[in-house]
Amino acid sequence: MSVCMLKNIQIEVFAFIIAKKQIMRKITIACAVLCTVLMACSNDQEETTNILETSTITIPKDIKLRTAEAFDERINYKLENDPEFAARYAENEAYIEAYTKEEEEKAKSGKRNLPIYTIKVVVNNIYRRAPMAMARIQRQMNRLNEAFAGQLTGRPSGLPSNAERFNVGDTRIRFVLDEVKTRRNQRNFSSYSEYYSRSTGGINPTSPDTRLNIYVANLSESTNFDAGIIGNAGFPGEEDSSLDNVFVDREAFDVRSGDGVFNEGKLLVHEVGHYLNLSHLPGRRTSNCRFDDAVGDTPNSSRLYFGNVNTGSSTTSCGSQDMYWNFMANTDDSEIFMFTTGQRTRMRATLDPSRGLRADLTNAD
Ligand SMILES: [Zn+2]
Repeated sequence: MSVCMLKNIQIEVFAFIIAKKQIMRKITIACAVLCTVLMACSNDQEETTNILETSTITIPKDIKLRTAEAFDERINYKLENDPEFAARYAENEAYIEAYTKEEEEKAKSGKRNLPIYTIKVVVNNIYRRAPMAMARIQRQMNRLNEAFAGQLTGRPSGLPSNAERFNVGDTRIRFVLDEVKTRRNQRNFSSYSEYYSRSTGGINPTSPDTRLNIYVANLSESTNFDAGIIGNAGFPGEEDSSLDNVFVDREAFDVRSGDGVFNEGKLLVHEVGHYLNLSHLPGRRTSNCRFDDAVGDTPNSSRLYFGNVNTGSSTTSCGSQDMYWNFMANTDDSEIFMFTTGQRTRMRATLDPSRGLRADLTNAD
């Protein structure tokens, strides 16, 4: 893309930054200068695809924390107010407990067989100026598979020496891109459900029982939306299949250069973890060491972590080291790189082709 072709993008972004400082708080001086220089350039509305690759806008760093809290609040609310969901949840937890014991026995006897479970994915991209380039979608899909295959090699500095004691490596869960759907819409959306419905300007999910529908849109440009959230995921057992999708803000989607906060494609890994029945490590109640994520090999924790924690602050709670480098923490993308064996078991229980709540994904044609 030539410099001149960037004119409209940069000016639009710059104006938006001024209007919405609470959402996007940084833009480089270089961009501001560029905006001025570009005033002499000609218009080209079509060349807007790489908007985020040409500026250094960042989302507030604690937004992952707020996103986490929103997820926890939603599930807790349903558990307390929706008896049918609470019953399904309890039944599923009993199943997962039994499944986990069976798997542990099989592992001890050397008889465990872990077939690859492959999930078909539909990416739904609602955009304001230009659709997301296929290369970006493919990079994000590759990152999702690398993460679930335990192939990420980067590690943050300052990890405890035994940090990877429970690193499972390969979950033997994979994702294949089945379809990409795009829709241009510049209206201001005010909820996820609006993105999930054609009648409100979004895109209806495609076969949500048998396909993981991932939505990518720029929440922070939709001024009516609760801008404190950049990701969302349906949780197994939630009843409304039209809402049973994964959402990732366009700015946190894809793998590209940047400061390691949102640019390594790991928010999607985290949200898919929720979709496959994982909670944050403290469970959904912080400040309570008796309530955790129901995973045996993640340490009990009462704290949600966000940002970059390798700055000398305490990283323990409930009497043990917290696993802030786990994909289900809310720290920067550069900090998180692993699932544990127990988390793998929970996800695979959910996908088990005969008993899992998401068996239809595994059995899909
Ligand atoms: Zn989360």
